[in-house]
Amino acid sequence: MSDIIKILPAEVSNKIAAGEVVQRPASVVKELLENSIDANSTKIKLIVKDSGKTLIQVVDNGDGMTKNDMKMSFMKHATSKIKDIDDVFSITSMGFRGEALASISSISNIEMISKKKGTDKTNIISLEGDNIVIKESVFSEEGTSIKVMNLFYNVPARRNFLKSDFVELRHIIDSFNRIALSYPDIEFNLINNDEELFYLKKNNLRKRISSIFGRKIDENLIPLNEKTSLAKISGFILKPQLSKKSRTNQFLFVNKRYIKSQFLNHSINNAYDGLLRDGYFPGYFIFLEINPTKIDVNVHPNKTEIKFEDEQNLYSIMNSAIKHSLGIYQITPVLDFEKEASMELPYNSQKNLIKEPAIEVDSGFNPFEKEKNNDDWQELESKIEDGIFDKINNNEEVDSPKIFQVFNKYIITTTGSSVIIVDQSLAHQRILYEQFLKSSVNNSSKSQKLIFPIEIELTKNQEIVLAEIKDIIDSIGFKFTVNERVVIINAIPPIISDNPIEEIFEDLLDNNSYNLKESFSLSDLIAKKMSKLLSIKNDKPLKLKEQQTIINQLFSCKEPKLSPFNKQIFVTLDRKDLDKNFLNG
Ligand code: ADP
Ligand code: MG
Repeated sequence: MSDIIKILPAEVSNKIAAGEVVQRPASVVKELLENSIDANSTKIKLIVKDSGKTLIQVVDNGDGMTKNDMKMSFMKHATSKIKDIDDVFSITSMGFRGEALASISSISNIEMISKKKGTDKTNIISLEGDNIVIKESVFSEEGTSIKVMNLFYNVPARRNFLKSDFVELRHIIDSFNRIALSYPDIEFNLINNDEELFYLKKNNLRKRISSIFGRKIDENLIPLNEKTSLAKISGFILKPQLSKKSRTNQFLFVNKRYIKSQFLNHSINNAYDGLLRDGYFPGYFIFLEINPTKIDVNVHPNKTEIKFEDEQNLYSIMNSAIKHSLGIYQITPVLDFEKEASMELPYNSQKNLIKEPAIEVDSGFNPFEKEKNNDDWQELESKIEDGIFDKINNNEEVDSPKIFQVFNKYIITTTGSSVIIVDQSLAHQRILYEQFLKSSVNNSSKSQKLIFPIEIELTKNQEIVLAEIKDIIDSIGFKFTVNERVVIINAIPPIISDNPIEEIFEDLLDNNSYNLKESFSLSDLIAKKMSKLLSIKNDKPLKLKEQQTIINQLFSCKEPKLSPFNKQIFVTLDRKDLDKNFLNG
């Protein structure tokens, strides 16, 4: 059998987008899985230890390599997939740069075993730094096994920079899922520390989606099918009811390659217009097939960005395809906001505001500070750093209302010398955030027992997230037991009693949320997430008492100026500045 890997001539390799491919274990996973796919494998097994830090192994039953190709594969710009520059503009394989194995082998120890189809020789190659050993092996199945060990062993800065095992495993699972979704006709396996996380049999796309994301998703999938001369669009979109507060369930593939595209994403979101609650994102698994000569994948080394020749037309084709599918499934009338009152209810926390203990915030949130009484307005005043609020209760205009709401969005109040305009939703986020953070730090939460415990069947992803965050959500008041993959929630934090508990619990287990935003701890991330989920929304009329509660509690927070996501909560208009406008009057 002949060798097929060649080093690309310089004039080709120079034109290929260069840059670092390996940022973390998940990048290695992506590259190795793509190689197995390009080798026509029908079964691919991914084995990792310590979330890839100790071992990443991919075993496939693909074409295999000759001894020479095995050696060649670790050279820079060595590839069997393209030959000249024209090929770069009609890529049909996942890889083409010939760089992945070269760069992976420069920062790890490697053992590759391969048997080329139709031959009877199996070879083993070991690489440790400059040390290369290649031997014949007695027996093996056709295909290739690559072990990548001790990633970044010689780049301590990189190694130390890796996140916790939990976060790295999440990234690995994301890479794995993206590839498993685009190749449902390949059998995949993922094993971490000897535990099988996924076993995905060869299947159709619909079954592949539900074997990854759980059975519940299946009944909410709407098929998508559109054929035009420019592109073929297929896959599934999720019913609007299953939309999420994060972009978790958004998967877009072009010629089976997972990509990110702002304009297509915009086109998809736009098609759902009027069907989603504020701040919610639709879910989708969309596959575009486009003539490879009409796209450019050579934009960035990780190949998740691509350029399209005809963006505008693609935008409208996508948009109408989705509207069409939504229409066929008659989602539109069901979601009529006039009729479907329940759509409004979930995050209505107005009731929570009236309930006294509900959003009680302790001014002495800082566990190192001695407790202060949050009813004592005078004492709170002195805490407010810049003194803007010194006279908040001492308004000169005694008879006028001190607090009112405008546009169902802002609460306006005054001090002796300024007007303060508070964004109600951001203010409430801050209040809730400090409350949740405090209860998880002090383990001081209260729980409210449920008369009817709630049962939720978890997906594998959710199970992994839950294992990581269970102590924290316990500390904020969720009491539950886990049996196999079923969670039984027995008690909840009292503040969420008027909300859809199941939905909130599942939002907490949403896999993407814990690594997107950087933060100093998981408790902090969870407090942020809870505050966002439960805060009152804009467009909500508030009673005077509620407005007062918000203002009082906001200014007894540690950091009343900024929301948990660092947005400015209020602005002040100084009387002096106002007066300037009227100098000539
Ligand atoms: P690229 O995939 O861009 O060609 P890589 O560095 O990832 O570059 O791989 C180099 C070459 O090694 C590939 O072109 C392919 O010929 C060979 N190769 C890598 N992995 C496998 C595999 N699992 N099975 C067969 N051949 C492989
Ligand atoms: Mg490759």
